[in-house]
Amino acid sequence: MTTDTFIGLGSNLKDPAAQLARAVSGLAALPDTVLIAQSAFYASRPVGPQDQPDFVNGAVWLRTSLPAHQLLDQLQAIEQAHGRERLRHWGPRTLDLDILLYGDQILDDERLTIPHRELRTRDFALQPLLDLKADLTLPDGTPIAELRSQCPDNGLRKLPPADYP
Ligand code: ATP
Ligand code: MG
Ligand code: MG
Repeated sequence: MTTDTFIGLGSNLKDPAAQLARAVSGLAALPDTVLIAQSAFYASRPVGPQDQPDFVNGAVWLRTSLPAHQLLDQLQAIEQAHGRERLRHWGPRTLDLDILLYGDQILDDERLTIPHRELRTRDFALQPLLDLKADLTLPDGTPIAELRSQCPDNGLRKLPPADYP
Protein backbone atom coordinates (compact mmCIF):
# COMPACT_ATOMS: atom_id res chain seq x y z
CA MET A 1 0.00 0.00 0.00
CA THR A 2 1.31 3.46 -0.81
CA THR A 3 0.46 6.84 0.64
CA ASP A 4 0.80 10.26 -0.94
CA THR A 5 2.65 12.57 1.43
CA PHE A 6 3.74 16.19 1.21
CA ILE A 7 7.03 17.32 2.75
CA GLY A 8 7.89 20.95 3.51
CA LEU A 9 11.52 22.00 3.03
CA GLY A 10 13.21 25.05 4.55
CA SER A 11 16.73 26.44 4.89
CA ASN A 12 18.35 29.75 5.78
CA LEU A 13 22.05 28.86 6.06
CA LYS A 14 24.91 27.95 3.71
CA ASP A 15 23.31 28.56 0.28
CA PRO A 16 19.67 27.71 1.11
CA ALA A 17 18.50 27.06 -2.47
CA ALA A 18 21.35 24.58 -2.97
CA GLN A 19 20.47 22.90 0.34
CA LEU A 20 16.90 22.47 -0.90
CA ALA A 21 17.93 21.16 -4.31
CA ARG A 22 20.21 18.59 -2.71
CA ALA A 23 17.49 17.61 -0.24
CA VAL A 24 15.04 17.00 -3.11
CA SER A 25 17.57 14.53 -4.59
CA GLY A 26 17.86 12.83 -1.20
CA LEU A 27 14.08 12.56 -0.89
CA ALA A 28 13.78 11.12 -4.42
CA ALA A 29 16.30 8.43 -3.42
CA LEU A 30 14.49 7.28 -0.26
CA PRO A 31 13.67 3.57 -0.09
CA ASP A 32 10.14 2.49 -1.08
CA THR A 33 9.42 6.05 -2.21
CA VAL A 34 9.00 7.90 -5.48
CA LEU A 35 9.10 11.64 -6.10
CA ILE A 36 5.92 12.75 -7.88
CA ALA A 37 6.63 16.49 -8.13
CA GLN A 38 8.49 19.40 -6.57
CA SER A 39 7.27 22.96 -6.08
CA ALA A 40 8.93 26.24 -6.92
CA PHE A 41 11.18 27.71 -4.25
CA TYR A 42 10.10 30.77 -2.26
CA ALA A 43 11.91 33.32 -0.10
CA SER A 44 10.21 34.13 3.22
CA ARG A 45 10.89 36.04 6.38
CA PRO A 46 11.83 33.90 9.40
CA VAL A 47 9.26 32.61 11.87
CA GLY A 48 10.17 33.60 15.44
CA PRO A 49 13.54 35.29 15.99
CA GLN A 50 14.06 37.98 13.31
CA ASP A 51 17.85 38.27 13.79
CA GLN A 52 18.55 35.56 11.22
CA PRO A 53 18.63 35.35 7.40
CA ASP A 54 15.48 34.97 5.28
CA PHE A 55 14.41 31.42 4.49
CA VAL A 56 14.04 29.55 1.23
CA ASN A 57 11.07 27.16 1.30
CA GLY A 58 9.53 24.59 -0.98
CA ALA A 59 7.63 21.31 -0.89
CA VAL A 60 7.67 17.92 -2.55
CA TRP A 61 4.98 15.36 -3.25
CA LEU A 62 6.12 11.81 -2.48
CA ARG A 63 4.39 8.45 -2.90
CA THR A 64 5.73 6.06 -0.27
CA SER A 65 5.13 2.76 1.44
CA LEU A 66 7.13 3.92 4.49
CA PRO A 67 4.96 4.33 7.59
CA ALA A 68 4.91 7.93 8.87
CA HIS A 69 7.36 7.38 11.74
CA GLN A 70 9.86 5.62 9.48
CA LEU A 71 9.52 8.49 7.02
CA LEU A 72 10.31 10.93 9.86
CA ASP A 73 13.43 8.86 10.71
CA GLN A 74 14.54 9.18 7.09
CA LEU A 75 13.87 12.93 7.00
CA GLN A 76 15.85 13.45 10.21
CA ALA A 77 18.76 11.44 8.73
CA ILE A 78 18.77 13.77 5.69
CA GLU A 79 18.67 16.81 8.02
CA GLN A 80 21.68 15.41 9.88
CA ALA A 81 23.53 14.79 6.62
CA HIS A 82 23.05 18.50 5.90
CA GLY A 83 24.73 19.38 9.18
CA ARG A 84 21.54 20.38 10.97
CA GLU A 85 22.14 21.57 14.51
CA ARG A 86 19.32 22.40 16.89
CA LEU A 87 20.65 25.47 18.70
CA ARG A 88 17.43 27.30 19.55
CA HIS A 89 13.75 26.92 18.81
CA TRP A 90 12.89 28.35 15.38
CA GLY A 91 16.53 29.40 14.97
CA PRO A 92 18.60 29.31 11.77
CA ARG A 93 19.13 25.93 10.14
CA THR A 94 20.77 24.34 7.11
CA LEU A 95 17.73 22.15 6.47
CA ASP A 96 14.28 21.54 7.95
CA LEU A 97 12.12 18.73 6.57
CA ASP A 98 8.58 18.56 7.95
CA ILE A 99 5.78 16.14 7.10
CA LEU A 100 2.95 18.51 6.21
CA LEU A 101 0.40 15.88 5.15
CA TYR A 102 0.48 12.07 5.10
CA GLY A 103 -2.50 10.83 3.13
CA ASP A 104 -5.66 11.55 5.05
CA GLN A 105 -4.08 10.50 8.33
CA ILE A 106 -4.43 12.48 11.53
CA LEU A 107 -1.67 11.72 14.02
CA ASP A 108 -0.68 13.29 17.32
CA ASP A 109 1.95 11.63 19.49
CA GLU A 110 5.22 12.61 21.13
CA ARG A 111 7.12 12.55 17.81
CA LEU A 112 4.60 13.45 15.16
CA THR A 113 1.69 15.78 14.63
CA ILE A 114 0.07 15.40 11.20
CA PRO A 115 -1.17 17.56 9.59
CA HIS A 116 1.81 19.69 10.69
CA ARG A 117 0.65 21.79 13.62
CA GLU A 118 1.49 25.17 12.03
CA LEU A 119 0.44 24.37 8.46
CA ARG A 120 -2.83 26.30 8.55
CA THR A 121 -1.16 29.67 9.10
CA ARG A 122 2.11 29.41 7.14
CA ASP A 123 2.03 30.86 3.62
CA PHE A 124 5.52 29.43 2.94
CA ALA A 125 4.16 25.92 3.47
CA LEU A 126 0.68 26.37 1.93
CA GLN A 127 1.77 28.06 -1.33
CA PRO A 128 4.20 25.26 -2.36
CA LEU A 129 1.44 22.73 -1.64
CA LEU A 130 -0.87 24.62 -3.99
CA ASP A 131 1.83 24.52 -6.68
CA LEU A 132 1.90 20.74 -6.33
CA LYS A 133 -1.86 20.10 -6.23
CA ALA A 134 -4.30 22.98 -6.52
CA ASP A 135 -7.25 20.99 -5.09
CA LEU A 136 -5.39 19.57 -2.09
CA THR A 137 -7.33 19.47 1.19
CA LEU A 138 -6.69 18.77 4.86
CA PRO A 139 -8.04 15.42 6.13
CA ASP A 140 -11.15 17.30 7.36
CA GLY A 141 -11.84 18.54 3.81
CA THR A 142 -10.66 22.13 4.28
CA PRO A 143 -9.15 23.29 0.96
CA ILE A 144 -5.49 24.31 1.18
CA ALA A 145 -6.42 27.14 -1.23
CA GLU A 146 -8.89 28.52 1.34
CA LEU A 147 -6.24 28.50 4.09
CA ARG A 148 -3.74 30.18 1.75
CA SER A 149 -6.20 32.97 0.93
CA GLN A 150 -6.70 33.64 4.66
CA CYS A 151 -2.95 33.89 5.44
CA PRO A 152 -1.54 37.25 6.43
CA ASP A 153 0.88 38.63 3.83
CA ASN A 154 4.38 37.75 5.00
CA GLY A 155 6.23 38.96 1.90
CA LEU A 156 6.48 35.53 0.29
CA ARG A 157 8.44 35.80 -3.00
CA LYS A 158 8.77 33.15 -5.71
CA LEU A 159 12.43 32.76 -6.62
CA PRO A 160 13.15 33.14 -10.34
CA PRO A 161 14.53 29.92 -11.86
CA ALA A 162 17.85 31.71 -12.42
CA ASP A 163 18.33 31.69 -8.64
CA TYR A 164 18.05 27.89 -8.48
CA PRO A 165 21.29 25.92 -8.29
P1 ATP B 1 8.03 23.74 13.45
O1 ATP B 1 7.41 22.42 13.90
O2 ATP B 1 7.38 24.94 14.05
O3 ATP B 1 8.12 23.81 11.94
P2 ATP B 1 10.79 22.97 13.53
O4 ATP B 1 10.50 22.34 12.19
O5 ATP B 1 11.92 23.94 13.61
O6 ATP B 1 9.50 23.72 14.06
P3 ATP B 1 12.21 20.77 14.50
O7 ATP B 1 13.32 21.18 15.42
O8 ATP B 1 12.56 20.49 13.07
O9 ATP B 1 11.05 21.84 14.58
O10 ATP B 1 11.49 19.46 15.03
C1 ATP B 1 11.15 19.30 16.37
C2 ATP B 1 10.36 18.00 16.52
O11 ATP B 1 9.09 18.13 15.86
C3 ATP B 1 10.97 16.78 15.87
O12 ATP B 1 11.86 16.14 16.72
C4 ATP B 1 9.74 15.91 15.53
O13 ATP B 1 9.64 14.78 16.39
C5 ATP B 1 8.56 16.84 15.80
N1 ATP B 1 7.48 16.80 14.82
C6 ATP B 1 6.17 16.75 15.16
N2 ATP B 1 5.40 16.72 14.07
C7 ATP B 1 6.23 16.74 13.00
C8 ATP B 1 6.01 16.71 11.59
N3 ATP B 1 4.76 16.68 11.08
N4 ATP B 1 7.10 16.74 10.77
C9 ATP B 1 8.34 16.79 11.29
N5 ATP B 1 8.63 16.81 12.62
C10 ATP B 1 7.58 16.79 13.47
MG1 MG C 1 9.58 23.34 10.57
MG1 MG D 1 11.17 20.43 11.56
